[in-house]
Amino acid sequence: MKTNLLKNKKIAIVGGGMAGLTLARLLQMQNVEVKVYERDFNRDVRVQGSTLDLHEGTGLEAMKRAGLLEEFYKNHRAAASEMLLVDRALNIKFDDHGFAKFTSETRPEIDRAPLRDILLNSLHPHTVVWDSRFSSMEKENTGWRIQFKNGTTAYADVVVAADGANSQVRPYLSSLKPVYSGVTLLQGDIDEAAKNTPGLFTFAKGGKVMAFDDEKMIGYGSKGDGSIMFVAAFKCSQSWLSECGIDFKNQDQVLSWFKKEFSTWSEGWQEFFTAHGVSFIPRPQYYFPLDQKWETQNNLTMIGDAAHRMPPFAGEGANVAMQDSFELADVLTNGRFSDIKAALAYFEQDMITRGADATRMTLENTEKMFSKTSLEQMLSFFKNVHGAK
Ligand SMILES: Cc1cc2nc3c(=O)[nH]c(=O)nc-3n(C[C@H](O)[C@H](O)[C@H](O)COP(=O)(O)OP(=O)(O)OC[C@H]3O[C@@H](n4cnc5c(N)ncnc54)[C@H](O)[C@@H]3O)c2cc1C
Repeated sequence: MKTNLLKNKKIAIVGGGMAGLTLARLLQMQNVEVKVYERDFNRDVRVQGSTLDLHEGTGLEAMKRAGLLEEFYKNHRAAASEMLLVDRALNIKFDDHGFAKFTSETRPEIDRAPLRDILLNSLHPHTVVWDSRFSSMEKENTGWRIQFKNGTTAYADVVVAADGANSQVRPYLSSLKPVYSGVTLLQGDIDEAAKNTPGLFTFAKGGKVMAFDDEKMIGYGSKGDGSIMFVAAFKCSQSWLSECGIDFKNQDQVLSWFKKEFSTWSEGWQEFFTAHGVSFIPRPQYYFPLDQKWETQNNLTMIGDAAHRMPPFAGEGANVAMQDSFELADVLTNGRFSDIKAALAYFEQDMITRGADATRMTLENTEKMFSKTSLEQMLSFFKNVHGAK
């Protein structure tokens, strides 16, 4: 008979991103008592980031196991898979509109907000405890007493850290620090893009645009809600952000930085930086060492970016995170392990290997995308992938 190791136990998932919500859904399908403690004040408070493509065997497999594949396909956006590859002067080098078969069929895209909604709507009412920013925890009986910034506490027999790249729970498992990748990206979000950045909005034809040149890249895509998210990524030192002196709330300061940093790029790109209401988030890109390991505990583990943060240059982060969720739910409920620690040891060993593989691939891509021959390399990559002339 299947023994669910979590029977009569309270599970706390810290962080309601893709990893945390997927895990909560899968555990609830096995009748596990689970709460998700999320720092956001409510489900609508934060703009959700980039459009994601889910991959077979990982992100898509998670949706399948969660019984949410149909909902996923109702909300995915085929147009988001279509892409223009351009140079810094906005000359089109490759256009797969109309034949983005590979990506739309095997790697369908979905905006994060609807994906998050699908997962949230699948959970029992009150599963997510909003406004619960984790601040610390201490051992209590065989589990943990968790302390939140708002002064509340909660007890859990098992805690799962799913609180993303800057996880506050991770240090209870590992003191290993992330390594800087050499690349920082500036993320920009623009609402009502057709009105606020009409030139670049129209140029994208509803899909995405990627530009590589000069050891830099700019990428953007429009989302179903009419907004655009773009990233401008460049090589710089780890201390750039603390030393640059830019106030990222000040559009003029960001524009003048962009003009200097991307001085050889077409002025057409500046439309993003002059757009009404644009908001910026600088994101230095880090990853955890490929050979990381930690001592398995019997009541604590981590998944997603908390366990294996990496730059977004292979589009693997959310996919690996969602795979972590189904692998973890499986080992804890499939009856093949004698106790939680044995299940977690098996899970963590496999996750560390998968995370390292995805990180290695990401770092190889990063090397290519920020090399002097990036445009040629990316052009040949996409031509191969799409079997294009
Ligand atoms: C610009 C950009 C583009 C990307 N593009 C892609 C892509 O195309 N494909 C892909 O697969 N991946 C992509 N990624 C990576 C992807 O976003 C992450 O790998 C993925 O979101 C990880 O999921 P997660 O659930 O582990 O973490 P997150 O999605 O970061 O979720 C963490 C959650 O924890 C919450 N939280 C944080 N701290 C606390 C706290 N102290 N207490 C309580 N809650 C907390 C957060 O509010 C959040 O809801 C991209 C990332 C970036 C930055």
